[in-house]
Amino acid sequence: MSTYKLANLIRARFPMIYITTFEEDRVTKYIKSVVTDEKQVKFPREVFTWTQTNGLFNDNTQKGINDTACPCKALEYIRKYDKDAVFIMYDFHVNFGPKNRQPDYNVIRKVRDIVPDLKLGTVRKTIFFISTELLIPESLQKEITIFDFALPNLEEIKAKFESMINQNTGVVNELSEEDKDKLCKAALGLTLQEAESAFALAMVNDGKISIKDLQVVLEEKVQVIKKTGILEFIHSNYTMKDIGGLDNLKNWLLKRNNSWSEKAKKYCIPAPKGVLVTGVPGCGKSLTAKAMSTIWGLPLLKLDFGKVFSGLVGSSEENMRRALATAEAVAPSILWIDEIEKGLSGIGSNGDSGVSSRIFGQFLTWMQEKDSPVFVIATANNISSLPPELLRKGRFDEIFFVDLPTEDERKEIFKLHLERRLKDKEVASEIVSVKNLCGELAKMSEGFIGSEIEQVVVSSLCDAFFENRPLKFEDLVKNIQTTVPLSMTQREQVLALRAWANVRAVSATKTSQLNKYSKDIDEDNAATSRGGRTLDF
Ligand code: ATP
Repeated sequence: MSTYKLANLIRARFPMIYITTFEEDRVTKYIKSVVTDEKQVKFPREVFTWTQTNGLFNDNTQKGINDTACPCKALEYIRKYDKDAVFIMYDFHVNFGPKNRQPDYNVIRKVRDIVPDLKLGTVRKTIFFISTELLIPESLQKEITIFDFALPNLEEIKAKFESMINQNTGVVNELSEEDKDKLCKAALGLTLQEAESAFALAMVNDGKISIKDLQVVLEEKVQVIKKTGILEFIHSNYTMKDIGGLDNLKNWLLKRNNSWSEKAKKYCIPAPKGVLVTGVPGCGKSLTAKAMSTIWGLPLLKLDFGKVFSGLVGSSEENMRRALATAEAVAPSILWIDEIEKGLSGIGSNGDSGVSSRIFGQFLTWMQEKDSPVFVIATANNISSLPPELLRKGRFDEIFFVDLPTEDERKEIFKLHLERRLKDKEVASEIVSVKNLCGELAKMSEGFIGSEIEQVVVSSLCDAFFENRPLKFEDLVKNIQTTVPLSMTQREQVLALRAWANVRAVSATKTSQLNKYSKDIDEDNAATSRGGRTLDF
């Protein structure tokens, strides 16, 4: 959060500033600290606050102003006030027509009427609208400026934690400096109030605070992120070892691990922005996002683009803003946008009054300008609905294409899923060598996707379980033979995906593994034998 930016807006006499936040106290303190500081604003301002229940309150004299609870009367008082001042108005948006409520046109007109006075009057006055949701009537869009008030940073959270420890002398503090750092970092992404509640909960448990309480804080955070309704905190234990094949993509990601560290700064490596992973469904795109979070040791937040537009959880723009702000507050973090195409399908159509285009623009600008360490992994199955702007250089660092697994990759996937499940000696007693078996199975399963291979293993184990006997090679063969792979049922779609990827994306599979490819798919068109350019990382 740049204090200078707010000070500049005030000095440049922006008439009205809108801040969306749940933290009234914190934002009020922050505004006061800026507007009363001569160094920042040159001419310190008096501070008034306003609520529809109490009217205006002069912070300097500590006195309320009679008869100003009515918004129009408060605005008239502001118009007439003849000293430099700022007026912080809470929940004023209720007059702008939130859901299930008509806008109050008198109030909106009155706001417009006082704009010339705020901009050009002899005294310097600014109005702040503080609200939990962003709502600006069309007619005021040009007059009101939105200011992004970031969630508390690590220093603020640490200061809150320390003041709690000092106040609660009965609590035994068993934290080392390093542990304290970890605990406070875990609270990033929470408002100060939420962080305070999480710490309080951790303290009341057993009258002491130790690194064991990290879980309490993390659970609190999961709750808060859940409440946004749009972001989901994904817990993952997957590692790169759980992904069969896709070595090129895995190498690219592994090389960028720790890109935000102090050591990386010495190499002047630009922080990675993100990757777009497209391709055939069920081939490990989601698995890669989950494994990445474990390998990089960063929290994984899944953004449901569909829900941003659903209208169930607030205005679309506000939903998007809040989701991105939360990801930034938790940074360094990974923001996973699954099936990104679903959120972008309305772009260019007139059906939603341009909401999709605005949200998309908001997202692109954020992608382009973000300097916080939030790495985006976007996954897409249907590339035909992806807007070209998304694919332009500078948005994502790389676009990867995940094709049907090669024979070597299928062998690895079979091995992974068999070894993961064949833990019991009895069940595995008829399997002589998983390694040899997988080579055979890979040959037989030309055109199978990863999830179909997993299904073959699961179904075969079900057959063995049903007959109360060990798993046999024949079970796996039978299940391969009875599966009609997606590459056959959706042959045209797979070919179209490959043709698209040949000019736009890099193959997620290593060049050395591309020697054996799906003949079923390729016989018609040798040029599209595999999707994606070959370029090894
Ligand atoms: P969708 O777009 O349909 O969600 P996806 O490409 O994201 O598909 P995943 O969800 O990652 O596919 O894969 C589904 C399941 O298939 C995984 O949970 C995993 O068990 C298995 N699978 C797919 N690909 C692989 C792979 N390369 N290695 C190991 N398992 C795989």
